[in-house]
Amino acid sequence: MDELAEALAAVERRVARACAAAGRPRAGVVVVAVSKTWPASDVVALAGLGVRDFGENRDAEAAAKVEAVRAGGVSGVRWHMVGRVQTGKARSVARYADVVHSLDRDRLAVALGAGARSAGRTVSVLVQVSLDGDPARGGAQPGDVPGLADLAATTEGLRLAGVMAVAPLDSDPTEAFARLAGVSHRMCADHPEAVVVSAGMSADLEQAVAAGATHLRVGTALFGRRPPLLR
Ligand SMILES: *Cc1c(COP(=O)(O)O)cnc(C)c1O
Repeated sequence: MDELAEALAAVERRVARACAAAGRPRAGVVVVAVSKTWPASDVVALAGLGVRDFGENRDAEAAAKVEAVRAGGVSGVRWHMVGRVQTGKARSVARYADVVHSLDRDRLAVALGAGARSAGRTVSVLVQVSLDGDPARGGAQPGDVPGLADLAATTEGLRLAGVMAVAPLDSDPTEAFARLAGVSHRMCADHPEAVVVSAGMSADLEQAVAAGATHLRVGTALFGRRPPLLR
């Protein structure tokens, strides 16, 4: 608990400093605590310290953790699915996710929408943009983003909220986040409500804030290092 509190304070200092440097209000940036591989008890502890947004990347782990956190008496938490979602898992994800950051194809939009409607929920979605053209790392190609955004915006059960990206390995995150900002601006021209920009992780959150990110996905800097095979 002390370690989590200390790590949270350190992340908060980094975010506050980055916002000040960028001339942005701190209130314009949400830290999503990426709790994948860590137990529900850590989520309950961070929630006790005021964190309200948690991120997961695998459906089975997330579904169980959401239940466990609820059973632990915590309410008012928002769950973010930040990992790739298989179409067959969309129905399950739509039952608990408040925001899916990884919408990358039409079929997933259709499946998430159907799942959300059958659960009587509305799920916010971000179109994940590929910034390096590597299909293995997920994300829609920039040219496919407008069509996917239009589909999400017109699918009942979904709310198009913005864009997400993971900075390419071994390249300058500032340049990558600038390209994401360009994609975001074009999306906002068609969909003015889609203002979310999910970018930045433990290693590059300062660059993401400078480039206009509204959501940072922070795992390691809060929880410590994950076992290598469970990433
Ligand atoms: C694990 C993960 C994060 C958190 O990464 P850290 O480097 O641990 O902060 C962010 N985004 C996605 C998509 C992830 O899978």
